[in-house]
Amino acid sequence: MADKSKIKTVGLLCSGGDSSGMNSAIRAIVRTGIINNLKMVGIKKGYAGLLKSKFVDMDVSSVGNIIQRGGTILQTSRCPEFLKPEGRKLAFDNLKKNNIDALIVIGGDGSFNGANLFNLETGMPVVGIPGTIDNDISGTEYTIGFDTAVSNAVEAVDKIRDTASSHERTFIVEVMGRSSQAIAIHVGVCTGAENVIFPTETKIPYQEIADNIQRGIKRGKNSSILIAAEGYKSGISYDIQTTLKEMFHIDSHVCILGHLQRGGSPTPKDRFVASEMGYLAVKALMNGEFPTATVVLNGKVQLTPLKNCLTKSNEYRPDLIELAKALSI
Ligand code: ADP
Repeated sequence: MADKSKIKTVGLLCSGGDSSGMNSAIRAIVRTGIINNLKMVGIKKGYAGLLKSKFVDMDVSSVGNIIQRGGTILQTSRCPEFLKPEGRKLAFDNLKKNNIDALIVIGGDGSFNGANLFNLETGMPVVGIPGTIDNDISGTEYTIGFDTAVSNAVEAVDKIRDTASSHERTFIVEVMGRSSQAIAIHVGVCTGAENVIFPTETKIPYQEIADNIQRGIKRGKNSSILIAAEGYKSGISYDIQTTLKEMFHIDSHVCILGHLQRGGSPTPKDRFVASEMGYLAVKALMNGEFPTATVVLNGKVQLTPLKNCLTKSNEYRPDLIELAKALSI
């Protein structure tokens, strides 16, 4: 337990890549703070805004009509200066000058590492809320924005399937997720994809992919969808396309979904989890529980020490990988 008595003003920011549901979290944080007589200050553009004192007072109406909006009204950024102790010192000085006593950071594992170092070096109370479409932060089963990203990608693949079956084609659809497997697995299962290729595979199993496609054709399937996680190399789908042609004479079309997966109105799940996390983050500060993170464990939103959430969890549920493979026959 840390000293909670001094917290009167709370700053909040979004950092790293945006994800749908961040606004729902901002709304919950601001309203929970205000109802508990805290002053709430938004920080624009993540840690970069902290270094430039881009502070904006927030009231109940400044977070009205945003629960359903994608992106983040506070905007976000990547900030190389915050990687250095001098940058974090400047950030601390700016917070103190503006009488901000605690910080809530919505972002990915990189943003959490920054928040954790910031707390260690300055003693500033911090709470992290996991917000990234990749669902790849250790210590939590869920990150805000994942469900919306999967939903966006599934909608797109369903449309592609219409064309694939009308023209009897093979499509390679590349989904986002950096090194994470999570989006690819969920999209693969939900769209009935014939193949799902994961980023951790150093060697792509071309023979297996070709066998799957050809087995499908033999039993009368008139289309084939291959979901490729962008993984270690965005644009990997073009390499796969070339190799399938050269080795197996399989023609295919490539569709890289890219940023259309990230934005858009958050799904009810993202709104709900974000609302719970935002509420709990403020409660954590009020109860003196920091440095902490809001997480989902065993399906329930709860608090955990921030140190449990500082790495990427690239190994995404091996049972789901088996599921995707079993159903793609
Ligand atoms: P994400 O939070 O989505 O993983 P990044 O890894 O790009 O995104 O991190 C966002 C920002 O968090 C960085 O631009 C930097 O300002 C800060 N950050 C990331 N890693 C660290 C670290 N190890 N130490 C301090 N700050 C960090």
